[in-house]
Amino acid sequence: THDIHIIGGGLAGSEAAWQLAQAGFKVRLSEMRGSGSMTPAHQSDRLAELVCSNSFRSDDAERNAVGLLHQEMRDLGSLIMAQGDVHKVPAGSALAVDRDEFADGVTAALEAHPNITIVRERIDALPENGLTIVATGPLTAESLAGSIGSATGKDQLAFFDAIAPIVHFDSIDMETAWFQSRWNKVGPGGTGKDYINCPMTKDQYMAFHAGLMAGEKTEFREWEDVPYFEGCMPIEVMAERGVETLRYGPMKGVGLDDPRTGRWPYAVVQLRQDNASGTLWNMVGFQTKLKYAEQVALFRTIPGLENAEFARLGGLHRNTFIKSPELLDPTLRLKSAPHIRFAGQITGCEGYVESSAIGLLAGRFAAAELKGVELTPPPAQTALGALLRHITGDAEVETYQPMNVNFGLFPPIPGKSKKADRKLMYTSRARDAFRGWLTA
Ligand code: FAD
Repeated sequence: THDIHIIGGGLAGSEAAWQLAQAGFKVRLSEMRGSGSMTPAHQSDRLAELVCSNSFRSDDAERNAVGLLHQEMRDLGSLIMAQGDVHKVPAGSALAVDRDEFADGVTAALEAHPNITIVRERIDALPENGLTIVATGPLTAESLAGSIGSATGKDQLAFFDAIAPIVHFDSIDMETAWFQSRWNKVGPGGTGKDYINCPMTKDQYMAFHAGLMAGEKTEFREWEDVPYFEGCMPIEVMAERGVETLRYGPMKGVGLDDPRTGRWPYAVVQLRQDNASGTLWNMVGFQTKLKYAEQVALFRTIPGLENAEFARLGGLHRNTFIKSPELLDPTLRLKSAPHIRFAGQITGCEGYVESSAIGLLAGRFAAAELKGVELTPPPAQTALGALLRHITGDAEVETYQPMNVNFGLFPPIPGKSKKADRKLMYTSRARDAFRGWLTA
């Protein structure tokens, strides 16, 4: 018998299992690898296998949001961070790990824990009852994905991200760009500031179109053969259809009055608000397979975006995730079936560390529930809290796409300050808030 069932022994599931077991609860951890099933990206049957790079990214807790997340996780007894620290390899200010030793370390720690039973089995349907954490990741087995789709509604489950780049508001030059909805249309609850417009002359547009055509694209892996839907076709595929196609599509200038000329621009790039706090804006229609460096170089030729800082760049990947902001409550429970929690990348966070962090929180929320106490979610000023808030409410549901932790998810620091100082302000405010939360 067990107190809780965790499905998926990846990064999030391993961390959640550890947190619950350390709190004294009996965990059944089901992992399909090792039972004859595999994902298209994993290579072994080890728990917490890293499928691609061996980096947990920056370990700088003073100036970097993911570094801050590392620190908060260490403070909460994270197994993933402890094993990462033990098996680190030199990588400057980043934390990189020996992937084999790391996964072996996590597997051994979980196997040795008296409160954890690891079962090598594939789960094909969401359990009808009993506390459960679903942590089956971006490559969730098809049968279970089907069951999740039935429980959440099909349009609430995505199978790939077609990601348009997301820009930090404070890096947009608002002397050149301006707020306006096309034809000044204001929707229900709208402010007329729903879009930011970056104008282009004919020459700028032509150069931009040529840049899109010439730019180097990433190739799909065989198993990532994703169909294009008209609604989210990569911008360069649209550009290939003809030089005017974009100008009659996402880049059309009609109905937008450039305050500097009083006229409609030849072409325009529109950005739409991407989170409730207004710190992040996504480039409308700009999902792309251009290589990251090419994206940065090309998109910075757009007037108003010369100094753009990107919270995330565009991409197209296979990725199973749910529309968490609509489906989950603030403690990661499925609103329609609260015995089920979700954790890891399937909730719409992105990255090894973020997935582990959401696993850690899911484990702690579940442990509190088993104890019959309430655990207040960490405040939004902390890295854990900012990430959790993004997933469970702050993000726009329509355009919801998996995202790494970044300062754009934190409540903004009021007033003007230099970028370098602002990072220190974010992290120092976070440390205070985190300490306060721990004490409470
Ligand atoms: P996973 O670590 O994938 O764990 C999910 C586990 O659930 C797996 O072990 C799987 O076998 C198991 N499972 C699935 N379905 C079932 C089922 N029905 N029953 C039982 N078990 C099941 N992030 C980075 O930070 N850096 C990178 O370089 C990086 N590269 C990536 C490359 C690829 C190809 C992909 C797909 C993702 C990448 N990510 C990367 C994103 C993400 O951080 C990782 O996928 C991360 O492993 C997610 O953690 P998770 O715990 O949510 O899922």
